[in-house]
Amino acid sequence: MPKLLIDNQEIQVPEGTTVLDAAARLGIEIPTMCYLPSAGSGTSCMVCAVAISGKENLVPACATKAEDGMQVDTRGEEVLAARRTNLELLLSDHVGDCIAPCQMADPNKANIPAVIRHIAAGDTASAAELLAGNLADIDGAKPQRACRRGRRDEPVAIDLLLKYVAAHAGRAATAQASDAPAGHRFSVHMGKLSETELERFMVGISPDPQIIPADPQAGYTHAEAAAEAKRCMHCDCRKSDNCKLRDYAEACGAKSAHFRTTRREFIQNLEHPDVIYEPGKCIRCGLCVRITEQEGEPCALSFVGRGFGVRVAPSLDRDISQALQKAAIRCVEACPTGALAMRSKSNGS
Ligand code: SF4
Ligand code: SF4
Repeated sequence: MPKLLIDNQEIQVPEGTTVLDAAARLGIEIPTMCYLPSAGSGTSCMVCAVAISGKENLVPACATKAEDGMQVDTRGEEVLAARRTNLELLLSDHVGDCIAPCQMADPNKANIPAVIRHIAAGDTASAAELLAGNLADIDGAKPQRACRRGRRDEPVAIDLLLKYVAAHAGRAATAQASDAPAGHRFSVHMGKLSETELERFMVGISPDPQIIPADPQAGYTHAEAAAEAKRCMHCDCRKSDNCKLRDYAEACGAKSAHFRTTRREFIQNLEHPDVIYEPGKCIRCGLCVRITEQEGEPCALSFVGRGFGVRVAPSLDRDISQALQKAAIRCVEACPTGALAMRSKSNGS
């Protein structure tokens, strides 16, 4: 039974215990992205790097066995700087918005894409729950000006949609903001999309022009609001509240633009009925690859290509729906970023 010191705290652990697990027994949390107890370690992200006295280089805590007499430092300056650098490298080619342009522009930072999904589903009460501020004073002009669809033809009529929610919510309530104010959190913004990316983003979205209410005084009817809601491209990341990359980057003070590389293409893969796959957010941690293998998926996910071009894709040239027949939920839960996310969740998607 090796006895070791972690951040100057002594612990004795069974033979074969990793430094990560030994630290956890002491209540010391070491961040991990490519490791899960149920799927093992890929030692690719190096976010769990720790210093061990006598060793020149930092080592991954998830794959280093505890040894007798070891002295481990999990939070020294060198360790935190390396962790920040590793996160910045992971962010260097990350493509996607943590927060949709409309939500960023909204003074209350309300989750407008989720509000719009509720409207499309006919659930006005849930839409109202997500709106911050007094429904009587709702003003969607600013978010509407920021709407990405405006680059394509006309913006989604956010102002009319929010007024529709206020008029039909059944109460003049002061609702709670759904998220922490997005402007105060670490956020990645992918900026302007190319015409090709925009074109692809529009697949499956209503091509109709902006809906004008038949009675402008009365505002949208249910049918008009639902039809306008279907024009939304859903630019938000469905994992904005539970993305390890975002959380750790914020905790470490990482900067998304510190290392600049060639931006990957923005692709939103909707082949699976329940899952969105965005390869531009993938950090190639390998968790989904290992999980689809474990689950015996006939077209398991695998790494395709080499070097910087390596990406995760289904084997046998199949599509994502065939690769994630049994393992979809496990893969989405394991994915440390928004690369794999559920299309339908409580936020109204
Ligand atoms: S298309 Fe939808 S999610 Fe994107 S900015 Fe416009 S309203 Fe927001
Ligand atoms: S899709 Fe997610 S789980 Fe799979 S390799 Fe990429 S980041 Fe990891």
